[in-house]
Amino acid sequence: MIKLCKLCKLCGKEFKTHKKNKIYCSIECRNKYHKIKYSSKNKISIKTQIKKLERKILYIGANKMRREALLLELDYLNWLLK
Ligand SMILES: [Zn+2]
Repeated sequence: MIKLCKLCKLCGKEFKTHKKNKIYCSIECRNKYHKIKYSSKNKISIKTQIKKLERKILYIGANKMRREALLLELDYLNWLLK
């Protein structure tokens, strides 16, 4: 496989990858980028999503797996708001 040399879209660091569509050197950079992307103007929509999720979790009942998945999503959204 050919390794591609790319520059991270966020930190500008050079990294090697096999994937053509990869634009960040690490998961950290990808997450940071999303955090910036969702920072100001999307905060309101994130808050709406959080409220929806919280309601879903309330009514989900005994389905533990589904509940955990929703809680993870909720954690992520809360993290984006930080
Ligand atoms: Zn990076």
